[in-house]
Amino acid sequence: MQHGYPVLYFSNVYVVQSLPYRYMIKVAVNGYGTIGKRVADAVAVQKDMKIIGVSKTRPSAEAFVAKARNYPLYIADITKKTEFEKFGLSIAGTVEDMLKRSDVIVDATPGGVGEKNKSLYERFGVKAIFQGGEEHEVAGFSFCSDCNYREAIARQFVRVVSCNTTGLCRIINLMDKIFGVEKVRAVMVRRGSDPGEVKKGPIDAVVLDPVTIPSHHGPDVQTVLPHIPIVTMAMVVPTTMMHMHAVQMDLKKKVGRDEVLSVIREHPRLGLVRKGTAISSTAELKEYVMDLGRIRSDLWENGIFEESLTTIGKELYFFQAIHQEADVVVENVDAIRAMMGKVTDPETSIRLTNEALQFTALK
Ligand code: NAD
Repeated sequence: MQHGYPVLYFSNVYVVQSLPYRYMIKVAVNGYGTIGKRVADAVAVQKDMKIIGVSKTRPSAEAFVAKARNYPLYIADITKKTEFEKFGLSIAGTVEDMLKRSDVIVDATPGGVGEKNKSLYERFGVKAIFQGGEEHEVAGFSFCSDCNYREAIARQFVRVVSCNTTGLCRIINLMDKIFGVEKVRAVMVRRGSDPGEVKKGPIDAVVLDPVTIPSHHGPDVQTVLPHIPIVTMAMVVPTTMMHMHAVQMDLKKKVGRDEVLSVIREHPRLGLVRKGTAISSTAELKEYVMDLGRIRSDLWENGIFEESLTTIGKELYFFQAIHQEADVVVENVDAIRAMMGKVTDPETSIRLTNEALQFTALK
């Protein structure tokens, strides 16, 4: 390409980043796995951001994807350079080199590794975003775009909460802002592993996760929405597609079903799985968005089942499907903008992120 800016080809999207380099936020992804590769692609299509590089620990299919996308590849252990090069994977430098060239690092390494990386980020004075597999204390601030975007402005460290917590925070926060939330109870039926994780299970069991109540999700919601009384229970089942939540909320006032549906319809990241689709499972929902042409068949929004949504007086009930690999991706993009302080209102950032991905929530 003549202009030198990265060009990305997605299944049905052709995007050229057109802003001059010096105005772009320089982002690197440390840990190019399930979440990291999605965040990299989402960042690369933003008009105000640029991917500086991604890191891998060993040659893998994902390293070849990074090469195909023209993302410079960095490695922690430079002695492994020849291991990559013998497969035609060129190495741009060490992870330290990548940090020096970046404004913000998205740390998408496995849970617990981010905590170990923190001292490195401190040493290089670079901003870093940790994921939900890290404890709240690693960043000292847990993020959900809807709920606390402004509080992330200019921070050095932010933790984007997990997929389940993100899905819960979005809907609880909206209901709380409009109707007031008295308390929440939710049961999470969790996918056993991501589709590519061939060594994980369970293969034939329903596993209580944990047996004790509450599961960690309720307290995790409270790292973002501390005033919400919430109790969660969780189990893991043999599926890879998505999580399913059964949610019940006591609202502060009596609300009709149509009132709730109309505020959900207005929300940019709450999707409605409509009655007319006849969809009643995660498998059909994934198939639906794949047919609609979503990149990687990703659902960045909550998949709230319209037909399930029921109100009885002040009580609200519904099922929502959460695509574990995807919903946090758009939140990471907003967190980058908030930390850089260039966009100070959440509505603008959410709109910019969604538009760049050509993402309109299912309605
Ligand atoms: P993953 O295993 O798919 O990817 C992690 C990547 O990091 C791999 O490519 C691995 O090779 C690399 N890596 C490992 N050690 C490294 C190191 N020291 N330096 C650099 N790279 C290293 O993991 P994931 O599922 O993408 O999860 C990443 C984080 O996101 C975790 O905190 C997880 O809890 C969180 N998260 C995961 C999901 C999900 O469903 N997969 C959803 C929400 C949040």
